[in-house]
Amino acid sequence: MSVIDEVKLKLDIVQVVSEYVKLQKAGRNYKSVCPFHSEKDPSFFVFPDRQSWHCFGACGTGGDIFSFIMKKEGVDFGQALRLLAAKAGVALIEQTSPKREAESRERESLFEINEAAAAYFHHLLLNTSSAANAMNYITGRGISTDTIKEFQIGYAPEGWDTIKQFLQGKGCPEAELLIAGLLVEGENKKSYDRFRNRLMFPIRNIQGKVTGFGGRALDDSLPKYLNSPQTPVFDKSGSLYGIDRAKTYIRQQDRAVIVEGYMDVLAAHQYGYKNVVASMGTAMSDKQLAILKGLTRNLVLALDADTAGEDAVSRSGEMVDKMLPVPPSFYGWIKYEDAHKAEVKILILPPGKDPDEVIMEDSARWPKIIADAKPMVDFIFESAVAKLNPESARDKSTVVEKLLPLLNEMKDPIRQAHYLERLSRLLKVDEHVLSDTLRKFKATERKRRGAASVKSSSIASPMVASSSPLEQYCLALLFQYPELKVDCKELTSEHFVNTENRELFDKWQLCNNPALLKDNLDVSLLEHLNKLISREFPSVLTENESVRRETMQECVVRLEERRLRNLESQKQELLAIEAAIGGTAGQLAKLEEGLEIPKQLRDIFIKQNNRHRQIKSEG
Ligand SMILES: [Zn+2]
Repeated sequence: MSVIDEVKLKLDIVQVVSEYVKLQKAGRNYKSVCPFHSEKDPSFFVFPDRQSWHCFGACGTGGDIFSFIMKKEGVDFGQALRLLAAKAGVALIEQTSPKREAESRERESLFEINEAAAAYFHHLLLNTSSAANAMNYITGRGISTDTIKEFQIGYAPEGWDTIKQFLQGKGCPEAELLIAGLLVEGENKKSYDRFRNRLMFPIRNIQGKVTGFGGRALDDSLPKYLNSPQTPVFDKSGSLYGIDRAKTYIRQQDRAVIVEGYMDVLAAHQYGYKNVVASMGTAMSDKQLAILKGLTRNLVLALDADTAGEDAVSRSGEMVDKMLPVPPSFYGWIKYEDAHKAEVKILILPPGKDPDEVIMEDSARWPKIIADAKPMVDFIFESAVAKLNPESARDKSTVVEKLLPLLNEMKDPIRQAHYLERLSRLLKVDEHVLSDTLRKFKATERKRRGAASVKSSSIASPMVASSSPLEQYCLALLFQYPELKVDCKELTSEHFVNTENRELFDKWQLCNNPALLKDNLDVSLLEHLNKLISREFPSVLTENESVRRETMQECVVRLEERRLRNLESQKQELLAIEAAIGGTAGQLAKLEEGLEIPKQLRDIFIKQNNRHRQIKSEG
């Protein structure tokens, strides 16, 4: 038995959860107001039979004791395991390999170096006269001393070896300072301070550890903003500035506001708007989204008026890349919203203003601007139509051409209908004409996609009886053929019931590379991972890419079917109990909201049937 199983066997989820949440009995199960979002009526349930929990309210998510602890304590899987093992009295044999141990020591030591550097830069800003310029700059932007202290803002002086001498004096080897990115190696191998005469922003991960720095030039130096390079602990595209301080508020308010810059975060937090983080000037990455996904599904992206004024949808139907702090493409966002039942809104800033300026001028205006944020699709629609000449038929066709692919991407038929109607009003074109055009477009698309997927006569079907073999089959396939990721974009951690599989899947989403996966994984999961990586597949699959893709798509459908079935049976059970104990009408209504599940299941059957029919006719 694995230590994970042993921990699960020894601990009862009801007991573990009640240490954090006041549970109330509801039939065989327990309920409470959800600890992860704010609500009045309980929609958070614990199921002792399944040893699982689920929030049927705004979170719509659930899991086992591990996921509960990870979410509640804000820790990673390994830390949750240690915490729970201690509770269960299960001894963890640290089967660490020397390599892993060395790596984790290196990471810890880099965190310590960064921490010491941050404290020193901060000390210099507050206490030295050479920092006067830096101090004038930041206070001139309206930032208070309290905020400077809260975010440990610092100053890196003009010299070439200030931080080098300080940290070497504390016994840090030069080699480590180079790895940490605090030093740069010049010609003839001589190293010097990377950050000179800059205002320093320590960047922390969600657990509050300093991973790297952003430094703003105080003179004409370029770049204006200089970041730490990629290090074993710093990955710019996986960082969100302010996340350590914002996480609690994002969860409480069930919304994250994403701005571009450090100063915007400081200003927002200073005025009590603490659910604000910065993407640090990059387009939002999958990694950043994965961090936020654990906290909320409601994202508001702040966009300055200049960018927003530009044509939001380019000729190819994709959103202009310049449109920061977003997006790989508009399709990407629609899919993200669909896959995670998320809502992405766009906040348009007043012309020529950054968020920090808006807040500093009149902080009461900020909540109003947030309230005016538009759902992304509305925003796209309006900006596509804004440049339209209402008298020009040609213009109208162009807009329809641009927007149809987006409509086609929407999975929810109600959402699609809503926007079809909207478009009809905006363009003053009959709705029937538009829906006809969309139908034709769909048909062409289907043909195109059908043709693209190569014919296959036999499918190596993952015919599996119980739940976790299916999960394992899917993961094994994915780990051995990483390119299949495109076929399982719809999968979320909710599709994995088994603790180990779920953690593997989550970690995989972040790194996407078997070698990296190993490095980032808790040792307790290595054996399981190795089993999956070495699993053998039949030659019909190994030799044929299209078979692999079909098989993966089949896996995804089955996992989704199972997820919906589980959800449905939980809901039915709760409804029965609530009815029996005379639950309030409000609670029942809330649970019933979710009963569109049978419809979703029906859609899956239709999809499966179509697929089988298609395969038959092709074969
Ligand atoms: Zn909840």
